[in-house]
Amino acid sequence: MQKPSYFCFFSLLFLLSCNSSKMARTAAIITPDIVIKNVHVIDAKNSLRTNMTVLVKGNKIGKIGKENSLKYNGDKAKVIDGKGKYLIPGLWDAHVHLAFIKELTPAMFDLFLAHGITSIRDTGGQLPLVLPEREKARKDPQNTPRVMLAGPLLDGVPTVYDGSTPNNPHLGIGAKTVAEANKNADEMIAAKVDLLKAYEMLTPEAFKAILAKGNAAGIPITGHVPLSMDVIEASNAGMSSMEHLRNLEFACSSDWEDLLAKRQKMLFDGQAEVGSTLRRNIHTAQRIHAVENQDPTRRAKVLSVLAENETWQIPTMSIMMAGAKRFNVRPDWLESFDLLPEPVRSMWRTNALKFAETPIPEATTAYANWFFEMVGHLKAAEVDIMAGTDCPIFYLTPGYSLHEELALLVQGGLTPLEAIEAATTKPAEYFNMENELGLVEEGMLADLLLLDDNPLADIRNTLKINAVIRDGKLHDRAALDAIKADLKTDK
Ligand SMILES: [Zn+2]
Repeated sequence: MQKPSYFCFFSLLFLLSCNSSKMARTAAIITPDIVIKNVHVIDAKNSLRTNMTVLVKGNKIGKIGKENSLKYNGDKAKVIDGKGKYLIPGLWDAHVHLAFIKELTPAMFDLFLAHGITSIRDTGGQLPLVLPEREKARKDPQNTPRVMLAGPLLDGVPTVYDGSTPNNPHLGIGAKTVAEANKNADEMIAAKVDLLKAYEMLTPEAFKAILAKGNAAGIPITGHVPLSMDVIEASNAGMSSMEHLRNLEFACSSDWEDLLAKRQKMLFDGQAEVGSTLRRNIHTAQRIHAVENQDPTRRAKVLSVLAENETWQIPTMSIMMAGAKRFNVRPDWLESFDLLPEPVRSMWRTNALKFAETPIPEATTAYANWFFEMVGHLKAAEVDIMAGTDCPIFYLTPGYSLHEELALLVQGGLTPLEAIEAATTKPAEYFNMENELGLVEEGMLADLLLLDDNPLADIRNTLKINAVIRDGKLHDRAALDAIKADLKTDK
């Protein structure tokens, strides 16, 4: 009597197992949203892989392989013929100020996207101005770059960016005491900033208090090495990264201890001065002297500490070279101003051309030469580097300028692949996102850039953008041109 029921039970199991294996077989065939066929794939880990087919499903990279080895059904997919094209991860600009020029802020996201910048790191802006931008980006990830932000510069007193002049907008907040520095850092952490930025006028004690807060919150602390400190001391205290190689020249000078003592005295005596004036006076007193007295032994020591402590460098060659190289009056650069909203467009054109007529001071050239050489030394010492521009300061067109940064890093000694690494895998790693972003690999987020020519042959080919994929959405050349046309008509 019971036999039939056993029979039914086993036959049911059999049917179920048949069904599930059939389901498994069906699941193995991917139905991608985007297929890029026979494309050369480049990323920092795998270098160059030729003639691969890349499947994008949702906002992730599904599979990568030779076209004939992949099982997929591309009936409903956007299929791109990648023959002769190059696919790289979406680029980061790791040093941006979204809120530096208020008329420009609304155009910034489009400018980045149109130039293949799919992530940015904002390194200084007041919270009420930058937090809404991050919110906007989070709500519309397919059409905006990913935004990581620091909030205002956590500075000392006097404060450099105190809003006292147009060149020193109110980007900073000053702390006179350790208690105030703690309070400022707490406020940023409560606002859920992605990193902290410590600034030049801090006392060593206040600086270390901010580092402790950032480390406890598990977020990176970047900044300018305070003028009151030596680079080694700042690195040993746990600074995650340094912007603009700022004040590194002092630390590598043969008389670095004497320079440090003199800076501390100037800071002590200058308490009543305007922050930006005091800072400029200190730079003027020491920078070129230091550049002319670099000590290779001391430099090797400093760089070995930076490498050992993993204190990353964001040289921001674009802004540091702009004065010496004058690239922002090249015809292509002036053309990029057409994408800016008025009145920025006209102002930049006039002011950049006017600036280019001024002679290049000897000190500017000397400092620029030091900068170039230092990038080579950083590479040799295996110090980590990220690509960032400091746009939109100094006529640096958002988006466009990151490509100049890559070219300058290559001129400074990085290989094109290392420059791409500095703008892709390195920033992802900086924010502990290396398992989801920065490589063209299965399961990674689909932020991608399709190029018409090989960036390993000439890094300037990163500008030959055929398409941008952001969070799984394809922006083909026509869509990118439409964004640009829209920017151009903006008055
Ligand atoms: Zn900056």
